[in-house]
Amino acid sequence: MRQHDSGAHLEVSFHHEIESLKLGQGEVFHGEGILAVTKGLLQSGVSYVGGYQGSPISHLLDVMVQARPYLDTLGVHVEACTNESSAAAMLAASIMYPVRGAVTWKSVVGTNVASDALSNLASPGVMGGALIVVGEDYGEGASVIQERTHAFALKSALWLMDPRPNLPSIVHLVEKAFELSEASNTPVMMELRIRTCHVKGSFVAKDNIAPAISSVHPQQEPPAFSYARLAHPPSTFQHEKLKYEARLPAARRFIVDAGLNEQWDGELGHLGLVVQGGLYNTLLRALGELGLVDAQGLSRIPLLVLNVVYPLVPEQIEGFCAGKQAVLVLEEGQPEFIEQEIATTLQRRGLQLALHGKDCLPMGGEYNAEVLLRGLRQFVERHDAGRVAPQAEAYLQPLADARAQAQTVLAQPVPARPPNFCTGCPERPVFAALKLVEREIGRFHISADIGCHSFATFEPFSFGHSILGYGMSLASSAGVKNFSVRRPVAIMGDGGFWHNGLLSGVSSALLNQGDGVLVIMKNGYTSATGTQETVSTPGSESKRVAEGRSATGTELTIERTLQGMGVQWLKTVHNYHVATVRDTLKEAMTSPYKGLKVVVAEGECQLERQRRLRPLRAQRLKQGLRSVRTRYGVDEDTCTGDHSCIRLSGCPTLTVRDAKDPLKTAPVAHVTNGCVGCGLSGEVADAAVLCPSFHKIEIVTHAGWWERLSARLHAWAIRTLQGA
Ligand code: SF4
Ligand code: SF4
Repeated sequence: MRQHDSGAHLEVSFHHEIESLKLGQGEVFHGEGILAVTKGLLQSGVSYVGGYQGSPISHLLDVMVQARPYLDTLGVHVEACTNESSAAAMLAASIMYPVRGAVTWKSVVGTNVASDALSNLASPGVMGGALIVVGEDYGEGASVIQERTHAFALKSALWLMDPRPNLPSIVHLVEKAFELSEASNTPVMMELRIRTCHVKGSFVAKDNIAPAISSVHPQQEPPAFSYARLAHPPSTFQHEKLKYEARLPAARRFIVDAGLNEQWDGELGHLGLVVQGGLYNTLLRALGELGLVDAQGLSRIPLLVLNVVYPLVPEQIEGFCAGKQAVLVLEEGQPEFIEQEIATTLQRRGLQLALHGKDCLPMGGEYNAEVLLRGLRQFVERHDAGRVAPQAEAYLQPLADARAQAQTVLAQPVPARPPNFCTGCPERPVFAALKLVEREIGRFHISADIGCHSFATFEPFSFGHSILGYGMSLASSAGVKNFSVRRPVAIMGDGGFWHNGLLSGVSSALLNQGDGVLVIMKNGYTSATGTQETVSTPGSESKRVAEGRSATGTELTIERTLQGMGVQWLKTVHNYHVATVRDTLKEAMTSPYKGLKVVVAEGECQLERQRRLRPLRAQRLKQGLRSVRTRYGVDEDTCTGDHSCIRLSGCPTLTVRDAKDPLKTAPVAHVTNGCVGCGLSGEVADAAVLCPSFHKIEIVTHAGWWERLSARLHAWAIRTLQGA
């Protein structure tokens, strides 16, 4: 359960999760799949853990980082890496030392970033077990490009696990992953789908193992020099042979001996299903709907569940398929690596049977229960006609009816509800200002990036011509500026800046005398992944001021870093001062200065700010102390109903309602009680010269006698004047 502390410095607290990590032999762990992985790491005796946050695995790292005091007692080192590449490089510790380590990130994007280090790790292989836990962000809940981590496992010869989504299996396979890694001197990847990360359950815990070599028990001497362990020619030629002549056979032996893949017989022995472990729960659901599950809840069609999807074991495939009339491979995503490998195995071993896969199931997209059911129906009907048709119809017909009914009831399509910035987000005013600049100088190219600011790609802003990766916006405008009349603008968050943008964008622009404009959203955190701190977080002005700390003058800031790099044109603006932001952006766009122009847009993440302020306000109210809450309102009499303010803001609490005035046909603007009083509404009305409808309201609780008296006098005066 996520809680919030009530101290001055307020981060999300994982107190409950940390207590779960301390469970010992025989105690029962309850929780989510991703936390079970974390516990599995400690039960395996890891010496170090690192990673870069991102859905769906953020929890693993966030919990570990907060659990540092406990992990210190075990001697486990935790590192919140600045990107996935540095996380992957951490695993180098297991090349020459018999220490176990694990790193984590979101895939496929994180694996892309990490791939150089991964190749250089896979080549020499490892001595201590090395595990890479990747959140396979694929399917309808995903937030990234749709590709498979599987491709990286194949190209680098890293073994890939895809555990059955239940907690005992997940934890067992985490422990076995280290053994597999050591038995075959190869790093192991474990892909965890979104549903696997969030599946809830329980398992019987074991004691955590304090690593033999650790910060508590340091190794006195480094190992002897061994050129053969370096990913450098000519060693790399030998490594390639080792991968396929020694490590692969060793891995296959271990997979069989340890029973990592699971096989179940079923009464319909002429058929067979080969499924990725991660799809097992969904498959059982689909089989159940088709009447293909027995009283024990097991499949009536024989199953081979691949908890290890690479490498496959040819003898295991042959053993499962032998004597069958037809086998269906259930493999999510494209291309169909597993199906192709099984086809090759069957061909080479001379087995004659019908192999199905992507001919029955879609090539791409998430395999939910309905998709699997349709594929299974096709497969079973082809080889056992009439067996499942009635059950399939009983499941599919209500779905079709519900869809048809929705079409009828909703004669019009449902209005789109795109994701949006939080209420009061400091990034919204910058895009409002950018709209105003666009109005003055015309449209220009905008390179968007990964982060909360990518919400500006939706209405009402619709900004962004490309997104090329995390921290890549400035680099991705390098080719555009040469043929653009107006300077391109690259948007980047502070998370993206430290992840990649500083080197791939800023340093490259400086080397090439780039003439673009870079806007850095300095909200103080890596907000989009869960408001994790960055290296410059302590220097975040708003946070420092809010915490009552005085500036030391030595804080690491984005501005100091840019100055040190040689950026000459650099301005910091405060986001909620929309007119100033507008003027600064316009100046950057039109300045005669040739070279990189950087606008640092500063404003603390409102989500994190509210996490800090709300408990403090609640505490003051509880103590009966004076408390002021600011919000904005719209004067309904003045509002003409043209809604320019909404088109320039998009704040969820700025909405419309029917006018009380019967002469007004258009709905008027209205601010709901969710307003956090960021001030954008007033600022934007002023900067864009809209109308004077907006006003600021201060809601005072536990006001003093003088304040109450003064309020009464004001109210009396207003009533009197209105009467007059
Ligand atoms: S998390 Fe913070 S930066 Fe992101 S949209 Fe919300 S307020 Fe804005
Ligand atoms: S002041 Fe305006 S933009 Fe800010 S939270 Fe309130 S309604 Fe939203």
